[in-house]
Amino acid sequence: MLPRLRPPFSLGELLFAVVSRNQRAEKIFERKFAEKFGFPCGLFFSYGRSALYALLKVFGWQDEVILVPAYTCAVVPHAIVISGNRVRFMDCELDHFNVSSASLTSSLDESIKMVIPTPLFGYPVDRKGYEKSILTKTPQAFILYDVAHSFGVQDHEGLQTDHADGALFGLGIGKVITTLYGGMLLLRDEKLCKEVIAYRDRGFLKPGPMEIIKKFAYGVATWVAFREPLFSLVDYLERNTTLLYHFTDYYYGKSGPTLPTNFDRRPTQFQSRLGLLQLDSYDRIIEIRRQNSLRYEKKLREAGFFLFSSIFTPTYSHFPLVVKNRKKAVAVLREYGIQVGYLVDYSCPDLPGYEEHHGKCPNSYWFAQRMINLPNWPGVGTNQISHICNIMEKCLENYSDLFYLEPFKLNSIR
Ligand SMILES: *Cc1c(COP(=O)(O)O)cnc(C)c1O
Repeated sequence: MLPRLRPPFSLGELLFAVVSRNQRAEKIFERKFAEKFGFPCGLFFSYGRSALYALLKVFGWQDEVILVPAYTCAVVPHAIVISGNRVRFMDCELDHFNVSSASLTSSLDESIKMVIPTPLFGYPVDRKGYEKSILTKTPQAFILYDVAHSFGVQDHEGLQTDHADGALFGLGIGKVITTLYGGMLLLRDEKLCKEVIAYRDRGFLKPGPMEIIKKFAYGVATWVAFREPLFSLVDYLERNTTLLYHFTDYYYGKSGPTLPTNFDRRPTQFQSRLGLLQLDSYDRIIEIRRQNSLRYEKKLREAGFFLFSSIFTPTYSHFPLVVKNRKKAVAVLREYGIQVGYLVDYSCPDLPGYEEHHGKCPNSYWFAQRMINLPNWPGVGTNQISHICNIMEKCLENYSDLFYLEPFKLNSIR
C-alpha cells in the first residue's frame, strides 16, 4: 500500500545500455540533451561539479568571485574553491528556499565574474528580477544556471535557462534522470564549447574497461538497493551507521572542500547509452512528478499547511515541506509507514572549510534544519498520495507543534 522508492531505471535499460555497442552514444546524448533544453551544445562529464570545474579552468580565472546560493548542494562551492576561485554566498528568502532578486542585488558588485542562479526542487526563481539586476550591476558576468534539481524549470516566458550563458544539470542517482554518476554542461557560445571540449580532451582521462565493470556493478547494486527488502536495510544503515559514508556524506564532501579522486575521468559510453534511454522517459517522469505534487498542493493547502509559493508550476524534482522538528516529523511519519527524505540538510556557508562565511546566511541555515520532501516519484499512485495526505492531516491534529501553517510568518518565529 505504501509508497516505496523505485529504482530510477529498469534492469532492462541497464542491461541494454551495457551490451549495446553504440560507440557514438556520448555525442548523441550530448546533442539530444542540448536540443531538449534549448542550447546549441552540451558536454557530458562524470559529475556536475567536474563540468563546473572545467569551465572555470577554461576561463583561466584565479581568485575571482563567484556568486552562489547558500542553500545549494555543497559540491558547487567546492568545485569553485578547488579551481582556485572564491565564493560569495547569497541567503535565501525568509519564507522560501530560493534566493530573491533583492538578495541577489545586494550581493552583486563589479568584482563578480559569474552568477549561478539556482532554482531548487523545480521551483522557478525571479528570472526577470535577476536579469535586471545583473544587467545594471555586472553585465559582463557569466550566467550559469544550476538546474541540477530543476530540470526544465519554467516561468511565463518559457524555460528559465533561455537567456543564460550556460546551464548545469546533475545526473547522479537521485536526480530527475540519471546516468549513475554524471553532469551535463550546456553552453550558448559554440566557441567556448569548443574550448571546453579541448580542455576536456587534454585534461580528462578516458575510462578504462574496469570503469565499465565498476559502473555496471554500481548500477545493479543501485537497482537492487531500491527494492524491498533491501531498500529498508540501506535506509536503516544510512541513518544509523557510518557504513555507507562513502556513498553519502563523502559524496557531497560535507567535511570540507574536496573533489572525488575520479572527478577528472570521462564517463563511460555505457552511461551515455543509459542517459539516452532516460532522456526518452524524461517527459513522462516530469509529468507524473507534477501531477503527484499538484495533488499534494491541493490537499495539503486545504488542510492548512504552509506550502512554498511559486510564480509558475514547478517541475518538482521533489515535493518540499518545512517542519518544526525534522527528526520527530520523520519518526512520526515513519510510524505511519511513510518514508520522507531530506536532501540538502546543511547550509554551505556553515560547512567546514567556509569558516569566514559562518553564520552569515541565517535563512538558509534555518531551512537546512527543517526541510523534508514527500514521495512524488513515478510509482507513487493517486491512492497513495491521498493516503499520505490523510495521514498528514491526522499528524497535524495529533502533533500540531510539528508543522507550519498558513499564514506563515517567519519574521515573528525567528
Ligand atoms: C547534484 C547537484 C549538482 C551536481 O552534483 P554532482 O554530484 O557533482 O554531479 C549541482 N548542483 C546541485 C544543486 C545539485 O543538487
